[in-house]
Amino acid sequence: MQVRCMLCGKKEDITPENVDYKKFEDNPKAVYICTLCSARTFHEAKEGQKPIKPM
Ligand SMILES: [Zn+2]
Repeated sequence: MQVRCMLCGKKEDITPENVDYKKFEDNPKAVYICTLCSARTFHEAKEGQKPIKPM
């Protein structure tokens, strides 16, 4: 299925092997953050510059 990153707007296809797949099956409106953005936010959170607010 196709999901859109809430941070960069990039569209990605996720497969049932993806950890987020079930989440979107249960809730199609769940927030998706692509690997690139999640790596970046994780890094930034670690630096303490920008706290993440997971919904
Ligand atoms: Zn992204």
